[in-house]
Amino acid sequence: MLLKCHYCDPVITKKMREQGVKPVKSIDTEKHEFVKDEKGKYFHAECYGYYLLEKKKMSIEEADRKVAERLLITKKEIREQEEKDKFLRWIMDYYDGTLPSYFLKKLKAVREGTYEGLNEPIDYAILLDIYQRMANYLNKIAAKKTFKNTTQRMNYDLAVVVGNYGDYKKYINRLKEESEKANEVQKVMKEQEKINHIVKNKKEDDSFSLTDVIDELLL
Ligand SMILES: [Zn+2]
Repeated sequence: MLLKCHYCDPVITKKMREQGVKPVKSIDTEKHEFVKDEKGKYFHAECYGYYLLEKKKMSIEEADRKVAERLLITKKEIREQEEKDKFLRWIMDYYDGTLPSYFLKKLKAVREGTYEGLNEPIDYAILLDIYQRMANYLNKIAAKKTFKNTTQRMNYDLAVVVGNYGDYKKYINRLKEESEKANEVQKVMKEQEKINHIVKNKKEDDSFSLTDVIDELLL
């Protein structure tokens, strides 16, 4: 995506736009480090530093700190947006391509942790993971139940997904523990291999020296 840098890209006035002057957007979000400030304006990370020094009269230390802070916030916001987009694309693909506003409202509550019966927020990446794991199961329920419309089914499914969050967390923790155990076993095996290798090398060394000795004796 291309964005306008509010420091190095020229200001295009309404009059210039009317004359056909195209706005310059020199931030390439794929390639450049960039920040979004509190007012929602974008800058190249470096440009934001200059902007703070010149326009905000900050000291170098202050500006550095501020740039680092906004970089972190911007990265977090972008990740959130990407995960949300990916999730919503999957949802549209799974259902009939619509995103009913009531469903979006419920979804927002889930993300913020204010959904009924939920005591912590669930992020979009995790929601997507649960939906994907439950997709067949949700289809089976839908085949048995009669929903008035897709919106009703989407809200019902969301409640099922959220209701399974506790079990999902337990399941993920178990997977983590198992993989940690597997790593532990692998570590032990590697150590054993190392010892075997040393022992083998030592034996080879011994036989070599023995051959040397025999050779010497024969000479
Ligand atoms: Zn710039």
